[in-house]
Amino acid sequence: MFANKIINWYQINKRELPWRNTQNPYFIWLSEIILQQTRVAQGLPYYNNFVEKYPTIKKMADVDEAEVLRTWQGLGYYSRARNLHFTAKYITNELNGEFPSNFNDLQKLKGIGRYTAAAIASFAFDERVPVVDGNVMRVLTRFYEIAEPIDKPKTQNTIFEIAQDLISKKSPALFNQAIMELGATICSPKNPNCLSCPIVESCASFKNKSWANFPFKAGKTKVTQREISYLVLYNKEGVFMKERPLGDIWSKLYDFPEFKVNEFASIENLIHELGFTSIGSIEKVQKKHILSHQKLSITFYKIKIEEEMKGNLDASFYDYSQVYAIPKPIVISNYIDENL
Ligand code: SF4
Repeated sequence: MFANKIINWYQINKRELPWRNTQNPYFIWLSEIILQQTRVAQGLPYYNNFVEKYPTIKKMADVDEAEVLRTWQGLGYYSRARNLHFTAKYITNELNGEFPSNFNDLQKLKGIGRYTAAAIASFAFDERVPVVDGNVMRVLTRFYEIAEPIDKPKTQNTIFEIAQDLISKKSPALFNQAIMELGATICSPKNPNCLSCPIVESCASFKNKSWANFPFKAGKTKVTQREISYLVLYNKEGVFMKERPLGDIWSKLYDFPEFKVNEFASIENLIHELGFTSIGSIEKVQKKHILSHQKLSITFYKIKIEEEMKGNLDASFYDYSQVYAIPKPIVISNYIDENL
């Protein structure tokens, strides 16, 4: 039987991960949000750091959003961190610190969709609901040769229903852990290790040597190119930085003032128009950075300015201890570490 086979395999082969030894819904939620779009090896130190800094949901709710963003720095997809903090505050202040304990109520929380709600309901409260992530979709589309596009809600609903039929009545949480682990470690995207797979005998795509065709996706997201030029106006005390607006990349993180190179005759003219005087030469550094939908080509113009200059910039001057503390995109943080 499908469920028994994968559970037996899991009990012998599972990786030891800290969030597997707890039924605390807060820790499970934290791990699931960190692991969305993130590999386990990258997410693990972040998980440990979050648990150490905010051992309870109240501890997270009590700090500023900027501090949570700072702890998240480097993981990308920052809306996850903003939603995490928002929901920690909501549960602490509006629900008396009590996590909703079922699949339906969990889905009403900000940043918690069907997948995360199922993971919390299953692992923390043992509800019999399937947890269908990318790994599970890969296993099931290959096992049954499901040729429907998995990026369409209709197919996702079909796979959810199939998983609902397969899930163990006795040990739903173990079943969910087992099928996710199978997808993560054996039924991998490029080279599945079918000969070590506990369900190989009944797998349609193993029999037909068709696993490379599954899962099938209808369309890929278009990636656009974007050029960004930064003015890095600094002196020995600190540097000018600004908070990014909502609705663009890196919302509410901090970077440097941006400008359009073509709109000015020269950098020197631009600095002059902004009311600054530069000391010494202008240092130019270029970096490439890839986000999910945009390829960024970033140019930093580093310019030393005299002390106590205010200029007329839409940015604020931060001393270096503040620069360290404010949340920044990783590419900005790396630039600062290497250049300031
Ligand atoms: S037999 Fe191969 S393709 Fe089929 S589920 Fe197992 S690892 Fe995946």
